[in-house]
Formats: sequence, structure tokens, C-alpha cells
Amino acid sequence: MKQLDSFNSKNASRVYAMKEALENKYPHIDWRTEQSNPDSSGELNVSLFVPFPQYKEAELIYQDFKSNKFNCGSSVFDSLIEEVIAFRDERNWKQFHNPKDLALSLSLEASELLENFQWKTSEQAIKENMDNLKDELADVVIYALLLSDALDINMETAIKEKIRKNRSKYPVEKSFGISKKYTDL
Ligand SMILES: [Mg+2]
Repeated sequence: MKQLDSFNSKNASRVYAMKEALENKYPHIDWRTEQSNPDSSGELNVSLFVPFPQYKEAELIYQDFKSNKFNCGSSVFDSLIEEVIAFRDERNWKQFHNPKDLALSLSLEASELLENFQWKTSEQAIKENMDNLKDELADVVIYALLLSDALDINMETAIKEKIRKNRSKYPVEKSFGISKKYTDL
């Protein structure tokens, strides 16, 4: 076997999800993962292997897979996603977390967030409902992270990409101090 890549074991669940996706799409290749023994600093790694004769083809597939299509690389959200997923899996709730219901739940939580502002000014809502605002905002982000995981979207890459698109939609020289939509600029 020959190693294609190696990951910190904190990302283990994403590595296994990636292996599963690779197996589904390229079943003729014998994708294998293996967890290493702890090194001197106690770090564990998960490595992705393929048989020697399949290495050349697998490497091309893997590079393409990693960089273009599936965005499986690590992100600043990884440890939070791990924690949210652990909470979900301890309760056997994955079966309910299909993308449609996650998107629906995200929207419901956004409405719960909004409810804190109803019939109040921003200042009144913040003064009276700060604890609730914090909880509901956290619920929105938790569902966003679960949905990103279900859809295999790397949120760090996606957010950076969207900011790049927004920059070109709203150039500073046209939009500075103006709240109009980009189509009306
Ligand atoms: Mg809530």
C-alpha cells in the first residue's frame, strides 16, 4: 500500500466521510484508511492509502477530489463541527438530519432569533433579551454547521469565496455608504 495523505485525527470523521465518498464514486480503487500509533507528542494521525499499482490513478483522482469538487480540506470550523456532530451522534439523531430538515430548522431558529426583536427597538431587545439572542444565534450557527457537514461544504472556503463575489458585486467606489442592492448601483 502507498500513502496518499495523512490527517490529524481530530479530522477523523471528515476523513472517513471522504473515504466513503471516494469509494462510492471510484469503487474500482481499493481506498483504505489507517490510524497511526501516537507519535512523541501524543498526536494521532489518520492516513489514506491505496495499493501500489493503483497509486498513480488514485493520486490524480484524489487531488481533483480534494481541490475542486468536494472541499474536504480542513477549516477553522472543524473542531466546532466535531463537537456538534458528537452531540448529534450520542443521541442517534443523524437519521433525522437530512439537508431539507436542516435548512428548515436553520430558518426556524432564525425566526426565533427575530422574535426577540418583535415590537422593540434594537436597543430594547438587546437590553431585555441578550441571553435569548445569544442562544438563538448559536442555534442558527449550529444548524448552519450541520448543514455544511451534510452537504460536504467547507464553510471557511465557502465564506471566503462569497466575500470575494460580494467584493465584485459591491465595489467600494460604487457602494461606499450606500445601502442599495447591487442591481441598483
Ligand atoms: Mg432555538
